[in-house]
Amino acid sequence: MGARLLDGQKVAAQMQAEIGPEVARYIARVGQAPGLAIVLVGNDPASEVYVRSKVRTGQAAGFRVDLERLPADASLDHVLQTVARLNGDDRYDGILVQSPLPAPLGRTAEQQVFDAIAVSKDVDGFSPASVGLLVQNRAPIAAGTPSGVMALLAREGIAVAGRHAVVVGRSDIVGKPMALLLLHQHATVTICHSKSTDLSGLCRQADILVAAAGRPGLITADFVKPGAVVVDVGINRITDRDEALRILGPSHPRFRVYEEKGSVLVGDVHPGVAEVAGALTPVPGGVGPLTIAMLMRNTMTAALARHPA
Ligand code: NDP
Repeated sequence: MGARLLDGQKVAAQMQAEIGPEVARYIARVGQAPGLAIVLVGNDPASEVYVRSKVRTGQAAGFRVDLERLPADASLDHVLQTVARLNGDDRYDGILVQSPLPAPLGRTAEQQVFDAIAVSKDVDGFSPASVGLLVQNRAPIAAGTPSGVMALLAREGIAVAGRHAVVVGRSDIVGKPMALLLLHQHATVTICHSKSTDLSGLCRQADILVAAAGRPGLITADFVKPGAVVVDVGINRITDRDEALRILGPSHPRFRVYEEKGSVLVGDVHPGVAEVAGALTPVPGGVGPLTIAMLMRNTMTAALARHPA
């Protein structure tokens, strides 16, 4: 392997160590911990894992993190009423509604729920007001995953200004805010999506390539300019042995994980990219841990805005 590994776990641990004393100072001054309310509707297994991790990480740093569980058959009104109550609850500086909401709530449910979160408590940065501020480069808080990528690049000493960044994916929660954050740091940004023609040619122009398509192994070595920085946001669970074998190959340590567990997490970036890229985030242990670290940073920012020193 040639590429330098960008260790998200390490950077997330640094951020966690830094925020603990800030939380302690805040508690001493304000008399209550910065508070985060997490709303989980139903019991999607992946959401359960993410939420547990958010609760654990936040509480370990001294935050108040409370989980509001709603049944899988909760009505949209019930979810909206819960958000309205949390908006008015002084114990909480941040509110997060875990995505995805159960499908029976309807296609527009998530948008309606995100719209209902008070912008001052929108620690996920998904509300239209937060996104508008991000477009204008005056958002105190931006979505956790792309903010985490920016923190990783900064702490790993990777320059962004003047470089060509290519983002594969244009979702509201990853691709678009990622492109905006890179733009605000003065990158020249190209956004690719499923209708882009010559994806590999566009990606090969990248000094910094961010893969956020949710397509296992999409970015192969021929997509990557030698020496480029490659950030793999994708988290894809593979349960099919042939697919795991095709992407990882029989001798890859992650294939052994598949053989043990019957499933394995892989990113959007093919392992062969490690031979071409200059630096690369692993999956797992790359961008994932930073998303939670940024959630805590965003909650701290929201708390400080509500109770300025
Ligand atoms: P979405 O499905 O919402 O968006 C995927 C985007 O990728 C779309 O814009 C889509 O294009 C584009 N795309 C899909 N296939 C291709 C293709 N073959 N070529 C080019 N573009 C393509 O996913 P998310 O943005 O929510 O998530 C992306 C990935 O990141 C997922 O694997 C997800 O699990 C992971 N993720 C990881 C997080 C972390 O903490 N590390 C947090 C959040 C997400 P179009 O718009 O045309 O459909």
